[in-house]
Amino acid sequence: MSRKNGIIYCNRCGKEICMEDWKDRTSFLAIRKEWGYFSDKKDGMIHSMDICETCYEKMVESFVIPPEEKKMTEFV
Ligand SMILES: [Zn+2]
Repeated sequence: MSRKNGIIYCNRCGKEICMEDWKDRTSFLAIRKEWGYFSDKKDGMIHSMDICETCYEKMVESFVIPPEEKKMTEFV
């Protein structure tokens, strides 16, 4: 878990991303994965992580197939 004292930290670089209260107004990647029966991990294992935008870019650079990009038509 990369959240401590109300602050969200990047799991990859350890950098402070933002205050938890600001998470809706900050750009970062929040992942929560429940590894279920069909995974090699222990059944019911939940992994959660937060990745800052810089690390996200680096992560994507290592992809063989880049993520699909689509322009947002409206901001909600
Ligand atoms: Zn980072």
